[in-house]
Amino acid sequence: MAWKTLDDMALDGKTVLCRVDINVPMEAGRVTDATRVEKIVPTVFDILAKGGRPVLLAHFDRPKGKVVPEMSLRHVQPALEAALGRAVIFMERPDRASIDALPQDAVILVENTRFSPMEETNDPVMARFLAGLGDVFCNDAFSAAHRAHASTEGVAHLLPNCAGRLMAAELKALEAALGSPARPVVAVVGGAKVSTKLELLGNLVAKVDYLVIGGGMANTFLVAQGVEVGKSLAERDMAPTAREILDKAKAAGCRIILPIDVVVARAFAANAPHETVPATACPADAMILDAGPATIAVIVDAFLASKTLIWNGPLGAFELTPFDRATVGVARTAAQLTRDGHLISVAGGGDTVAALNQAGVAEDFTFISTAGGAFLEWMEGKELPGVAALRA
Ligand code: AMP
Repeated sequence: MAWKTLDDMALDGKTVLCRVDINVPMEAGRVTDATRVEKIVPTVFDILAKGGRPVLLAHFDRPKGKVVPEMSLRHVQPALEAALGRAVIFMERPDRASIDALPQDAVILVENTRFSPMEETNDPVMARFLAGLGDVFCNDAFSAAHRAHASTEGVAHLLPNCAGRLMAAELKALEAALGSPARPVVAVVGGAKVSTKLELLGNLVAKVDYLVIGGGMANTFLVAQGVEVGKSLAERDMAPTAREILDKAKAAGCRIILPIDVVVARAFAANAPHETVPATACPADAMILDAGPATIAVIVDAFLASKTLIWNGPLGAFELTPFDRATVGVARTAAQLTRDGHLISVAGGGDTVAALNQAGVAEDFTFISTAGGAFLEWMEGKELPGVAALRA
């Protein structure tokens, strides 16, 4: 591994600045889903077990460099205490002397790093201030690693550093899926638009053996091939770009899988009357909302021929029944093949995680990344600044 983990660090008697992601959803001052808080518990306990005093750094929501009381991390403190089963000391204005005056086994939570305008600009003044609060930096927030901020990137250069347990697990799983994967590799990319996933497609065609394109973005590829798609969501101005991606795939030996049959409806609504037609036969007054059974069979064949699967984006309008059929069906097959030991499956992105939960298979995938933006940038082949700083 190019980065250190907690196992490599001597922490006894040290104060450990630990960047975490506890940016949890909240309603009326209460945390509605504490998953992110629960996930950092192993890292906090391991720091304590090694004699370190954890000082947690985190952002919460988007205060944009100003103090916004509703976005105070104070609101997350009770959920953190519940997850850890112990008291947490909240510091609005941290300083080294106050931290040093606390017992060595205290757990400290510092106020929202984004209350300072210097966080998102990665101001060296803030990085130095943070570094002055501790002896070691541990980054456990993969989901924030695509941002070069003072608490994710700047401070990492100023102290001995390592990845926390969650970050290390995420990096290991991602490296196994795209860095040095078991081949062949199949990628599934779906979702609404080509324009938001251009870099992703460009990177994947050079790296994977099969690329399944689904959802609204597949319509743009059909248009690029001269197919009429009626009232379907499609970015007609992106057709030349789609053709470039097809050419690039051909040159790289990547097989692109597009829908061969589609489910069409006249309304974008749950249970709208629908029919299955060849992908080349979408009626002029209808829209494509899902891939059909023949397409599902082709995708399943690609899965059977592969050893690694990377997935981002739904294959249809999965929020609306029955247009979730392709997404759910293909997800269940991927889960089964993973359970059978035939496939290593990695998925990520907000919609994808929701779709896999809907299919009831999230537990069966080898790894699911809840880091939306960071997961996408990793799939795009970009070096994440928060990870790069750990290598330095
Ligand atoms: P994205 O955020 O780009 O991953 O896109 C996810 C969204 O794409 C979901 O809300 C889906 O409902 C939507 N979507 C997928 N397929 C289609 C389609 N054929 N027509 C319209 N929207 C779609």
